[in-house]
Amino acid sequence: MIKRSFIKLTGPRLLCDQVEPDPKKPETIPIPPRLVLLLHEPLDSTRETLIKKGDTVKRGERLFLYKESTEYAVSPVSGTITSIASYTGDFGTIATYFIVERDEKDTPSNGFAEIADTPNLKSADSFLRSLPGAPPLSRFTDPDCKINTLVIEGTDSDLMSTTRQYLLATSKEEIKRGIQILRQMTGVAKIAITVPENASDDLSAEGVQVFKISQVYPKALPQMIMQDHLEIIPVPGATCEDQGVTFMSIEAVISLAKAYAQKEPVFEKVLTVIAKDGTRHRVKAVIGTPLHRIFKQFKLQTNERDRIIVGGPMMGHAAYTLYHPVGPDTDTVQIQDRDAIPYVSDYPCINCGKCVRVCPANVPVNLLVRYLEADLYEEAADNFDLQSCIECGLCSYVCTARIPLFQYIQLGKHQLIELETEANNA
Ligand code: SF4
Ligand code: SF4
Repeated sequence: MIKRSFIKLTGPRLLCDQVEPDPKKPETIPIPPRLVLLLHEPLDSTRETLIKKGDTVKRGERLFLYKESTEYAVSPVSGTITSIASYTGDFGTIATYFIVERDEKDTPSNGFAEIADTPNLKSADSFLRSLPGAPPLSRFTDPDCKINTLVIEGTDSDLMSTTRQYLLATSKEEIKRGIQILRQMTGVAKIAITVPENASDDLSAEGVQVFKISQVYPKALPQMIMQDHLEIIPVPGATCEDQGVTFMSIEAVISLAKAYAQKEPVFEKVLTVIAKDGTRHRVKAVIGTPLHRIFKQFKLQTNERDRIIVGGPMMGHAAYTLYHPVGPDTDTVQIQDRDAIPYVSDYPCINCGKCVRVCPANVPVNLLVRYLEADLYEEAADNFDLQSCIECGLCSYVCTARIPLFQYIQLGKHQLIELETEANNA
């Protein structure tokens, strides 16, 4: 495997949005009568589940599929489970979704309240994994992960979103409290926070290192921050955690502070919704709210063959249904008009070299894609730096032949994991 440093950034200068000087409050979406909760565990149709259709759930109750399950979803409302079914995500990944029909009567679960007096990593991971911002608490409890640096992301990683910057600008007290809780719970040696380059660094008074991040895309991506601010060269194929660093959305820090202050989990997620004409709406919606509810509130029409992108224009993925829910990590949702969807082709590469020049990780994309097109994933990893890709999407954006390079790369990485799993299980 070739190992190269991430040094270069040439080509188009795409600038991330900056939050307004006096940010507008998000518009709150009413809690819908039915919520959709995704659980990252496949449903086994041959087994009886712990939670069944017709069961009632309390607000804040954890939903486990099976007795030995470690994954859970948390119901943001009191209500009745009306459906449990399989959900197929990107590259055929299988998850499960629950539909909860909301009761008028609100009955809170007091599971978390009983342990909320003393912040503790293990109990936090047991109850608060689904908070807005999706705090990656299990990375601190994983014995194979030796985390010595926590980077709180106060900058948005994709274009056109200001979700995190808004929270950074408007929730200073909660951020300070959240940092104290995290320091106490994790004992992590170093805490840093990313802020836009024009923001103040007043959080440095909390003993937090402040990293000012350029507006130029993709400077706010974790691997770029590792290289530019922590002077750690990302190792191809290794995660940031493998190298002792973990990243946490600023919303997760705020949510932790609120949950411990209120002694109950919180469920309202802030997100940026981008309309077809590029208008941005700042929204607050309860986790599990189907996206069509948000579109309805802003009178955003969707037509057949329009595309719904969850996660931002450069790195997001398409949602297959308008019932796709707001998740704990949904920072951005975009509607692309069917006539404005970027054109992709199956024309061959013309070797213009644009993808190579733009790649911040120095991947020889033009050569890599030939192997990926031929399903030669191991060769692509061994000889053409597949694992060095930081998934910024810039190569697809500039490709003259309109080859869906980013999608080939994501598929290639996924297939590589499948091959490794098969080999380990053989
Ligand atoms: S998505 Fe493309 S441009 Fe971005 S790091 Fe990967 S190969 Fe390079
Ligand atoms: S940008 Fe597209 S056409 Fe140009 S070298 Fe890269 S893959 Fe080939």
